[in-house]
Amino acid sequence: MVESSAEKVKKKATGTTKKKVKKGIPIPSSVSVKQLGELLDVDPVAVIKDLMKKSIMATINQVIDYKTAAMVARDLAIDVHEEQVSAIKEMPKYHRFAIDDNITQKTRPPVVTIMGHVDHGKTRLLDAIRQAKVMDSEAGGITQHIGAYQVEVNGQKITFLDTPGHAAFTSMRARGAHVTDIAILVVAADDGIMPQTVEAIDHAKAAEVAIVIVINKIDKPDADIERVKQQLTEHNLLIEEWGGDIICVPVSAKTGDGIPDLLEHLLLVAEIQELKADADRKALGVVVESEMDTQKGPLATVLVQQGTLKVGDSVVVGDTWGKVKAMFNDEGKHIRKAGPSMPAEIMGLNSVPQAGDGLKAVSDDRSARLQVEKARKAKEMESTQVVKVLALEDIYNQIKSGQVKELNVVIKTDVQGSVEPIKDSLEGLNVEGIKVRILRADAGNITESDVTLALASQAIVIGFNSRPEAGARRMADSEGVDIRVYDVIYELIEDVQKALGGLLEPIIIEVVDGHAEVRAVFTVGKRDRIAGSYITDGKVLRSSFARIIRDGEKIHDSTMSSLKRFKDDAKEVLTGFECGISVDGFTDFKVGDIVESYHSEEAHRGTAL
Ligand code: GDP
Repeated sequence: MVESSAEKVKKKATGTTKKKVKKGIPIPSSVSVKQLGELLDVDPVAVIKDLMKKSIMATINQVIDYKTAAMVARDLAIDVHEEQVSAIKEMPKYHRFAIDDNITQKTRPPVVTIMGHVDHGKTRLLDAIRQAKVMDSEAGGITQHIGAYQVEVNGQKITFLDTPGHAAFTSMRARGAHVTDIAILVVAADDGIMPQTVEAIDHAKAAEVAIVIVINKIDKPDADIERVKQQLTEHNLLIEEWGGDIICVPVSAKTGDGIPDLLEHLLLVAEIQELKADADRKALGVVVESEMDTQKGPLATVLVQQGTLKVGDSVVVGDTWGKVKAMFNDEGKHIRKAGPSMPAEIMGLNSVPQAGDGLKAVSDDRSARLQVEKARKAKEMESTQVVKVLALEDIYNQIKSGQVKELNVVIKTDVQGSVEPIKDSLEGLNVEGIKVRILRADAGNITESDVTLALASQAIVIGFNSRPEAGARRMADSEGVDIRVYDVIYELIEDVQKALGGLLEPIIIEVVDGHAEVRAVFTVGKRDRIAGSYITDGKVLRSSFARIIRDGEKIHDSTMSSLKRFKDDAKEVLTGFECGISVDGFTDFKVGDIVESYHSEEAHRGTAL
């Protein structure tokens, strides 16, 4: 009978085997950190910490050999021996996903953006990764800055966007371009999580991209990796070794330590994401950087997302078009084609497009020109008025039409204590399956950063006893972001609930423009009467509603039928001036009557003024 390894282990443990039983816990010849923790009955963190003391930076799934495991066990005062039966190898997590058998879609490289607080080492990390490439490549070519570059690790490519920071990431998202697959959040080990780290976390989460944490500057004497891990947990980023699913890699961008490990982890994350693209179609892509070159003319670095872009292709790019005359890779070398996830600098456009603009290869120049002209005309037809990206009243329609799938909100409150109750109440709402997704919930004023996050994610900003700062207000107005401010939680929740069900109607409010006092009455023609009036406050508008008030009582309510200054028609007359007023359906003016000019406006509870 063939005895299973598990049975053997069991027999050893219970002592039923006839073989000589070695002292201590049997440990396979290779074991993952997690398994070792389980076998030794200690927290895997203790194993990781001990390995760290030995300058081994291991993650929870990292496999170590028996010798190393035995050293850890000795430090923890636990007896072990090498198990001879078999090496139990844990099936790595990233293998559990079946590969899509759709033949036209092939695996494409991941596109990675680096974000984090200023000075935490984003630029240096990008350089260190690029450096790793130069050392790897036989040619050792000099890299050019074109806005994105690729490195090759174990025969697989990774694309990095070369503009660090979340400003670029956010502005591209706000323009509807979803380029990034993985966001690296850099945290300096000596500084820990800082405000811009938190912003970057919010942006990455809102964009639903995979997050990989890089703890940088581990070469510094005051580096404290454990503290950073702890802080990450406080921001709901539970790292793998502590039972979460966030990969965290300690590196030094200065010495290059950890960079290979980071690249390998990025490949693993990409594998889980199953990133696919069809290389055999006309190219679709996004501009990541652009410039006007005095010699080459307009240049744009494009990241191809689908298909293959070739020299000679006619392309529509944002508001412009052109024929790709030449393409260059990140080493400045001429290339003839660029497939999915490959950055390429293209020459031949008629003008410089903007980062975030889409690229589409079309059949010929004529078609490219026509498409651009059509798009331009459509744009000219659009009203110049800023239309809200998303207003609370519209959410239901937008969800029904498939434009958004849930209500994204950014919440700001006056005190920390109000954050959780509001968050919980909103997250608990579910109207016909439509839910609220909270992108940020924090105490403080509504800032430009909140509006930016909302803009990039088609979200609305809700303030509870918190008001927008002047800059945030201006930005929200010009970009069309809806900010609502409430001072009663119940009203806030009720409005959101109604909006989810499509029941939030704008409230029509009346705005009084001004008053006029009737000083004389003239008859014109047979029946018409004109009230010779004096504007006592505000202004009277020709286009407004008009209400006649006599002895404090409203006696008539209709619209202004004419407004004259002397013989001329006037659009409006201001305080201190005289004018002639006639009102639809009313002729019985008396000296001393008050004409109230007013108009109606759409309003809603919570409108931040
Ligand atoms: P960024 O603002 O996030 O792009 O940060 P930089 O890449 O410009 O780095 C800020 C400073 O930290 C620079 O002086 C870098 O040389 C330094 N720096 C970056 N990474 C490391 C590192 O791993 N170790 C050390 N000692 N210094 C680093």
